[in-house]
Amino acid sequence: MQQLRRVAANYPVESKRVQALYTAIAGIYQDFPFPDNKTHIGCMSDEDHMSVTKDTTRKLGCTHYLHIPKYDYFIVIFHEELETDASFLSVVIHEMAHGEQGAISTSQQPHGKLFKKIGKCLIQHVKSQQAKLPKPYCNVKINEVTVLTQSVKGFHPFKHSLDLCSKDMPTVENTRMQKSVHS
Ligand SMILES: [Zn+2]
Repeated sequence: MQQLRRVAANYPVESKRVQALYTAIAGIYQDFPFPDNKTHIGCMSDEDHMSVTKDTTRKLGCTHYLHIPKYDYFIVIFHEELETDASFLSVVIHEMAHGEQGAISTSQQPHGKLFKKIGKCLIQHVKSQQAKLPKPYCNVKINEVTVLTQSVKGFHPFKHSLDLCSKDMPTVENTRMQKSVHS
């Protein structure tokens, strides 16, 4: 996870933009205290993501978890082609829902009932105070399907994106990743 954070720092402009959006959404939404933006969300290319995680699935966003020693997560947003698109906001909300879901339960399905409940709540809050979001996200339409479901291969309008996020990485894997950074 630390490795991913470092990689995201190589995309300062893109990462700052997504961090500002995350903070604005967190400010509107009071049900979960989304922690510090810099260490919890960032952008990178899918090539960079792949080189760190060895995950070759093409997607729009991905949330990595760590539950030991304490709950931690890092959201990766793949900014290419997405940045100026309305779906960018929906993808960020989708991944933030994963961030909250991971804090509540470790045994839930990635896009199950709990996830959808959180996603709907986030949509409601953001819609009610969307003017507080930075431009252009204060004016774009939230795609509820993007927020609430994992996009299925072949059904997504973006040419690279086959699913929104891969299966959550096992804690062991993340722990190993964390350790390798410090060794
Ligand atoms: Zn997802």
